[in-house]
Amino acid sequence: MAKNSYGKRPCSICRKWFLPDVRQKGRQKTCGPDCQRELHRRQCKDWNKKNKAYFKNNYLGKKIEKSVDKKTVPDSSGASLPHQTKPVLPIEIIITEYGIKPAIIVQYLVTQIINQTRGRSTGFT
Ligand SMILES: [Zn+2]
Repeated sequence: MAKNSYGKRPCSICRKWFLPDVRQKGRQKTCGPDCQRELHRRQCKDWNKKNKAYFKNNYLGKKIEKSVDKKTVPDSSGASLPHQTKPVLPIEIIITEYGIKPAIIVQYLVTQIINQTRGRSTGFT
């Protein structure tokens, strides 16, 4: 039997000591429904933050992979150029000078910065 299962514990939100419901066997982290809601809200916020970053990184990684796969014929037909969005960059120059990966990363970063500056979170497509 875990030593604290039936004893008092501090609420993880308001830090008040409370007596957990014995039926919840140590799962209870908050003193009441208000703190429970707050805990849930915080967890969701954290989760969303982490996942947003994860999806962004994953997206960029995939885009690079795809363009590298496509770039089997290194001609300048433009077929393998990354899709150009609003900030029109000298993407061909960047590709010629640095390669396709840095070009995609630069384009991605510029798009992110512009979206941030505008205070919007429109996707990078
Ligand atoms: Zn509480």
